[in-house]
Amino acid sequence: MTQLDEATRKKLTEFIGECWHEGVIWIASARYYECHKCEKAFIARRDDYNRTFTLDADMLAVYRAIQKADRWGGFALYAGEYWYTYHWQVQKKPLSLNSWLFCLSNPAEIPERMKMVAEFIEKENI
Ligand SMILES: [Zn+2]
Repeated sequence: MTQLDEATRKKLTEFIGECWHEGVIWIASARYYECHKCEKAFIARRDDYNRTFTLDADMLAVYRAIQKADRWGGFALYAGEYWYTYHWQVQKKPLSLNSWLFCLSNPAEIPERMKMVAEFIEKENI
C-alpha cells in the first residue's frame, strides 16, 4: 500500500484548510494535549496528530476542497488521463473511472488517489 510522505500529507492538509498540527504539548492543568499552532485539544498522546489520507473521510475532504476551489472540472480531466494511463492501459481492468477515483472496490488505494491529487495541486499551483 502506498504511504504518503509527511510533506505530501502536510500539503493536502493545508489544501483542505486545516492545521498541520505541530508542537503538540501536554497541558497539565486541563489534562489534555494541545496543538501549539491552532490550540486544538487531543485527549490521548499520539505519535502523529495529523490526517493519514487513508480514510474515506480524508478522500472526501480533499475532493470537496477541489470542488470548493472550483477546480473539479480540471481535476476530473487530469484524473481521467491518469486513470487511462496508469490503470486502464497497464492493468487492463474494466473498472470505471468513477469507481477507481473513489476507491469503491479497494479503499486501500485511497493514498494513491491522494498522491495524484497532490501532484495535481502542485502542477496547477492551487
Ligand atoms: Zn493544529
